[in-house]
Amino acid sequence: MTLVMQPSKIVCIGRNYAEHAKELGNEVPKEPLIFLKPPSALLPPGGTIILPAVSRQVEFEGEIGVVIGTRARRVREADAESFIAGYTCVNDVTCRDLQKTDGQWTRAKGFDTFCPVGPRVVALDWRTLSVVTRVNGVERQRAPSSDMIFSIPRLVAHVSAIMTLEPGDLIATGTPAGVGPLAAGDVVEVEIAGIGILSSHVAAQELP
Ligand code: MG
Repeated sequence: MTLVMQPSKIVCIGRNYAEHAKELGNEVPKEPLIFLKPPSALLPPGGTIILPAVSRQVEFEGEIGVVIGTRARRVREADAESFIAGYTCVNDVTCRDLQKTDGQWTRAKGFDTFCPVGPRVVALDWRTLSVVTRVNGVERQRAPSSDMIFSIPRLVAHVSAIMTLEPGDLIATGTPAGVGPLAAGDVVEVEIAGIGILSSHVAAQELP
């Protein structure tokens, strides 16, 4: 599928891998923890993540992205796969310092360029997906979808019970352990076998 990402919303899942929850000192949630990123944060493959001057700790989060194919409202977990168009790579870029100080995550995760997505949407079996993140060629994250606390069908069922999912909507399914900082000049890649490599450059914000 050609990648034309125009989601009405980007729904993200927090703490969906036990090892990642542990590395940030958080409990494993009893039900999926969700938050939103604005569509204005989208960044196409090959784009540049801009480090906001207000943050001193911007981190990468490589994730498996679910792209909705059919309007989904209160779907059952057993039926959820039929509402999915395919999968893609997502980088849920986060100001870790602002995430801690703000008490909620809208600013920390909502800056322009903080949602690289791509390079393609591919219909695959979610059970076979595995995400890898590299910074400047060095592997930093690697995990199969089987490490998720809540499976992809469970996430679609859960989110669709709260808000109607429209075709093109994106669910970022959470990041595995290994998150770390980005610096100006870095190249960060999120790869899912069968989908491809989502590569982004990193640059400092130019202040007027
Ligand atoms: Mg995330």
